[in-house]
Amino acid sequence: MISRSLAEIYEMLGAQAVSEATNIQPGVRIHGVSTDTRSIEPGTLFVPLVGERFDGHAYAAEAYERGAAAAIWQHDRPHPPEGMPIIRVKDTLTALQKLANAYRRQLPVRIVGITGSNGKTTTKDLVAAVLGSTYNVHKTKGNFNNHIGLPLTLLQLGEETEFAVVEMGMSGRGEIELLSKLAEPEAAIITMIGESHLLQLGSREEIARAKVEIISGMPEGALFIYNADEPLIEMAIQEASLPQGLRCVRFGRSADAELQPTGIRMEADGAYFRMNRPEYPELFIPLLGEHNVINALAAVAVGEAFGVSPSAVAAGLASLQMTSMRIEKLTGATGLTVLNDAYNASPASMRAALQLTEQLSGFGRKYVVLGDMLELGEHEEHYHREIGRLLAPERIDGVFTFGRLGSLIAEEAAKAYPSGAVRAYDDKEQLSAELAVLANPEDLVLVKGSRGMRLEQVVNRLLAES
Ligand code: ATP
Ligand code: MG
Repeated sequence: MISRSLAEIYEMLGAQAVSEATNIQPGVRIHGVSTDTRSIEPGTLFVPLVGERFDGHAYAAEAYERGAAAAIWQHDRPHPPEGMPIIRVKDTLTALQKLANAYRRQLPVRIVGITGSNGKTTTKDLVAAVLGSTYNVHKTKGNFNNHIGLPLTLLQLGEETEFAVVEMGMSGRGEIELLSKLAEPEAAIITMIGESHLLQLGSREEIARAKVEIISGMPEGALFIYNADEPLIEMAIQEASLPQGLRCVRFGRSADAELQPTGIRMEADGAYFRMNRPEYPELFIPLLGEHNVINALAAVAVGEAFGVSPSAVAAGLASLQMTSMRIEKLTGATGLTVLNDAYNASPASMRAALQLTEQLSGFGRKYVVLGDMLELGEHEEHYHREIGRLLAPERIDGVFTFGRLGSLIAEEAAKAYPSGAVRAYDDKEQLSAELAVLANPEDLVLVKGSRGMRLEQVVNRLLAES
């Protein structure tokens, strides 16, 4: 983590620092930066942020009591705690970002930035696993991927960090540009373009343009790795002016992708696949779903670019440590298998999860529990009905939906299914209870919906009762 004297911090803030600091002894060192008093340790630099509902400045006294060495202070906020060393700035959020970028520039670290509609966290873990076989790697913790989380991630890097793998999320135009300029990534990945944030951006074209903003902070000679199966990325790249000497590598199923998978085998413990390159042995990832094989190709591209040998790439992928299991395979009290993908849902990830459920063999009957996909704006009805039409009784035996939008999935699916095989609920308890009665130990149940639907409650009930 960052360790600098207050004099150095003042310098790094540059024009953001607006006045002489108060109570500052320039030689005092800070260790680490925090915006949250709960994670303050002796020596931390406290950066109070001003939010819609909370103002961090109100917690400065608590931060000081907990041992904060100093605070950044927004000049228009009154009453810093008595005696607390402070540096006044125009705006604490901009100061945090400025400090993070200045620190990043002082480090020898090489940064890999990852954006995309789905698969950012998974790909981050895959890239960190590949690079981790050969280098000292730091990766974004959890989902710290926004204008606050990314600077905090950069400030956690150490002098010894050789690679940082950072996730960049967004909900509108201009956000990825900001994040890319903060991190200045030497390699950047766009995993795919889906429909998440369609509500804010209006069209998939705009989503693609927003992701391609990631090139704006990349230095000369950097490597741009993107999904070849999505023509909208190529379109947005054509529109943007590419930085000097940017090198591009494409991955995916398309025939013109430099990195393609061949011979994918889905087994109970994960996916096995070969690359379109003879130098690679068969690769294994402890993840289910073909979409994760595609995510893994981006990690192979990073490994190849930074000199990780094919056998080290293979070892790295196999030893993957996930931030948290997304499609998680769980076994209930009586043996029922539940695919827990209740963390979130968008049309693309819904299609990927359904494809996986259909492909898995060795089960009795297969059921899906699908909840609303939120934030799709005016297209929400279209996407839910489309998912409903993907469901077929030859591949999925029963369909349970939860929520208002979920019922549109049910409405469409019911056209193809015998009566009683598709059921729509607005009560999770009732849904769980009825499914628990129906499902046998040898059956498989996929549970998926947007975060706000909290379908993990269904997962927990099924595991306890089936
Ligand atoms: P968030 O925006 O919440 O940070 P993320 O982009 O980090 O999401 P992950 O957490 O890796 O994405 O995965 C989220 C969901 O997307 C999971 O349900 C996963 O199954 C699905 N998913 C992952 N990769 C892909 C992909 N390449 N295509 C479609 N769906 C995917
Ligand atoms: Mg994520």
